[in-house]
Amino acid sequence: MGDLFGFGGAFGGRQQRKSAPRRGSDLRFDLNIPFEEAAFGTERTIEVERLEQCGECKGAGGSGEETCYQCKGSGVTGKTQRTPFGIFSTQTTCGKCGGSGRAIRNPCKKCGGLGIVRARKKIKVKIPAGIDNGNHLRLGGEGNSGAKGGPAGDLFVVVFVEPHKLFKRDGVDIFTEMPISFSEAALGTKLDVPTLDGAATVKIPPGTQSGTIFRLKGKGIRQLRGNGYGDLYAKVIVETPRGMSRKQRELFEEIKKEENMREERKRFF
Ligand SMILES: [Zn+2]
Ligand SMILES: [Zn+2]
Repeated sequence: MGDLFGFGGAFGGRQQRKSAPRRGSDLRFDLNIPFEEAAFGTERTIEVERLEQCGECKGAGGSGEETCYQCKGSGVTGKTQRTPFGIFSTQTTCGKCGGSGRAIRNPCKKCGGLGIVRARKKIKVKIPAGIDNGNHLRLGGEGNSGAKGGPAGDLFVVVFVEPHKLFKRDGVDIFTEMPISFSEAALGTKLDVPTLDGAATVKIPPGTQSGTIFRLKGKGIRQLRGNGYGDLYAKVIVETPRGMSRKQRELFEEIKKEENMREERKRFF
């Protein structure tokens, strides 16, 4: 209703309050970090463009503050309008002082009287170990400075974790796959499994089936809150040999003779 008849400025004083010192807006910065840095924590220097308090006038906007001559300090200007509905007296926020009722005689040349200027700022960001894709860090007071001496907003750093060649992550647990050969699966072996801090030896027992998952306790990612670690799950994939040599073929033929796979399959029916 207010908007319909142009009463916006007269009601509630919302626009007037807007021109008082107000908090600066929040900022968002998207940061990509490698998988390992998310796991172990890191420190980055980011550069953000933001509004900062003008150094020239210290945020005051200039010198010689006085009562606004246009609105005589009321912060609003009124006018009377004749409309088909009758005579309306409408008030709008004073354009000269922005509703504050105060004006500056000598506006600062650097900021044009706003008290804030656009600036590029380098900020050091400490990224804790265990941060996950899409998590954000809130840096209080590092957002845009407020107008007319208002407090600064916050800076939100949204972290995006780059995928890893070997590992997939789900919370604090990580997953990897290890190819092993037929004979290794059949006879058993010791495998060097990559972890976030070097290789770990895993004993593969004889007769290991493809798809078997080995759990390496505590070899996952550090909890963001807390001191615990997730686990590493390593899944063995038995690779069927391809392009065998004549010798290999002969050996497999030998094995085949010894196998009782036909009998095993019969049990299914
Ligand atoms: Zn200034
Ligand atoms: Zn005014």
